[in-house]
Amino acid sequence: MDVDTRLAEAWVRALAAAVEREHGRLTELDSAIGDGDHGSNLRRGFTAVLAALDAPDAPAPAGPGALLTRTGTTLISKVGGASGPLYGKAFRAIGAALPQPGEAPADAAGLGEALAAGLRAVRELGKAEPGDKTIVDAWTPALDAYRAAVATGAGLPEATAAAAEGAERGALATVPLQARKGRASYLGPRSTGHQDPGATSTALLFRALAEAAGRPLASGAL
Ligand code: ADP
Ligand code: MG
Repeated sequence: MDVDTRLAEAWVRALAAAVEREHGRLTELDSAIGDGDHGSNLRRGFTAVLAALDAPDAPAPAGPGALLTRTGTTLISKVGGASGPLYGKAFRAIGAALPQPGEAPADAAGLGEALAAGLRAVRELGKAEPGDKTIVDAWTPALDAYRAAVATGAGLPEATAAAAEGAERGALATVPLQARKGRASYLGPRSTGHQDPGATSTALLFRALAEAAGRPLASGAL
C-alpha cells in the first residue's frame, strides 16, 4: 500500500468523525486544566475541512500532499486556539514532505518522514519539549513506535497501528505531568492529575490514520 490521495482523504475523514464523536470529552479535559474549548475548536476546524472537501466546486486535490496541506491551511484559518495553528502547521508540513505529483508515492518509510516533519513543525511553533504535557507527548511516542515497526519490516497497516498505540500510551502518560506550555501551565502543580486534551486529540489523529491505512475503502467509495 502506498500513501495515495484516497488514504489521505480517508485519514482526514476518519479524524473529522473522531472529533465529532469525541469533542465533548476533549472539551471536558480542557475544562479541567484549560478554558474548555479544545473539542469545540477542533470541531469547528474539521467541519470546515469537510466542507472544503465536499464543496461541489472543490478542485480535485493534486495528490495526498496537496490534500493534507489544504487541510492544514483550513485548520489554521478556522481554529482560534493554540491547537489550530499547531495542527494546521503539522498537516501543512506533512503535506509538504510527501512526494509531489509526478513523483513515486510514499511508502511506509516515506510516511514516517512526513510524520516526523509534522512533529518538527509542532515543536518549532510551540517550543514544547517532551514532558511538557502537550501534543508533543503523544506525537513523539507515536513516531517512535511507527519507526520501530517500519525498522522491523512493517507495512502501513501495522506501522500506523503501532503509532496509534504509542500515541494513546503517550496521552495516558500525560496524567501525572505538570504542564509547562500552553494555558494549562498557568495552573502550575494543579495541572497534574489530568490527561492533556491536546495529547488526547493527537491520539485520535493517529488512531484515525491507523483506521484509514488498516481498512482501505473500496475503490470509488470516496
Ligand atoms: P487553547 O489552549 O488556546 O485554548 P486548545 O484548547 O484548542 O487551545 O488546545 C489546548 C492544547 O494545545 C493543550 O492541551 C496542549 O496539548 C496543546 N498545546 C498548547 N500549547 C502547546 C505548545 N506550545 N506546544 C504543543 N502543544 C501545545
Ligand atoms: Mg482551550
